[in-house]
Amino acid sequence: MIADNVKKTLAEIANGNPYGEKITLVAATKTRTPEEINEAIAAGVTDIGENRVQEFRDKFDLVRGANRHFIGHLQTNKIKYLIGKCYLIHSLDRFDLADELQKRAEKADWTADCLIEVNIGNELSKSGFSLENVQDAYQNLVKYPNIRIRGLMGMLPICEDTQHLRSLCLSMRKIYDTIKEQDENICYLSMGMSGDWKLCVECGSNMIRLGTSLFGPRKIQLPVND
Ligand SMILES: *Cc1c(COP(=O)(O)O)cnc(C)c1O
Repeated sequence: MIADNVKKTLAEIANGNPYGEKITLVAATKTRTPEEINEAIAAGVTDIGENRVQEFRDKFDLVRGANRHFIGHLQTNKIKYLIGKCYLIHSLDRFDLADELQKRAEKADWTADCLIEVNIGNELSKSGFSLENVQDAYQNLVKYPNIRIRGLMGMLPICEDTQHLRSLCLSMRKIYDTIKEQDENICYLSMGMSGDWKLCVECGSNMIRLGTSLFGPRKIQLPVND
C-alpha cells in the first residue's frame, strides 16, 4: 500500500514542475510508525518531515537513510534537539526563533538550513510571515550567520475557490523568484499537501509534503500546526 503510493507519486513528479525544476517529495510522517516510514524509504522516499520534536527524537535512530526535515511549529526551548540533526527546518516563522536558533547553532558550530514560513492565507490558526512582510523578513533573517535561508514554505488555506488558491500560490512563487534572483542559496519552495499538491506544483512549488496520500488517513488527528 505505502510502497505503491510512494512509487505512483514519484512517477507523477518525475518530470519536475513547469518551471523546469526537480520536485522533492517530503513524506510527512507525523503519527506514523518507524516501520511505516522505513517502508516508504525502501520504496524511494529520500526526505521525511516531522511536526513534533518529540516524534523527531523518538524515531530518529529507528528510521534509516533519509534527510530529516522539521515541518511543524517549533518552540524555542526545543531547538536544541534539532541542532546538527535537521536537514531543513521549514518553519522559521518569527524572529525570536531565529535569535535562539542562531545562538544554539553557533555554539555547535553548525549552520541551520531554513525556509521562511509564510502564512499565505493570513489565517489566525497558522503562523508565519504575511505575504506582504516576507521580503522584509528575508532581508533580516539572511543576516544571521548560522542560519542559511533556502527558500519559502507555505500552507494553503482550506478553500473551494481554486482560482483564489491559484493566485495565492502564484504570489508565493513571485516572491520566491524575487528572493532567488539575489541569493544563490535559495532553491526550495515548499508548498503542497495531499489535497492540493498538484495545484501547487502547477504554480511553481518544487517541494511537496505528503502524509495522507502516502500513508493513508491518520488515526490520531493532530492540528496541522501543533
Ligand atoms: C501533516 C502535514 C502535511 C501533510 O498533510 P497531508 O494532508 O496528510 O498530506 C504537510 N505539511 C505540514 C506542515 C503538515 O503538518
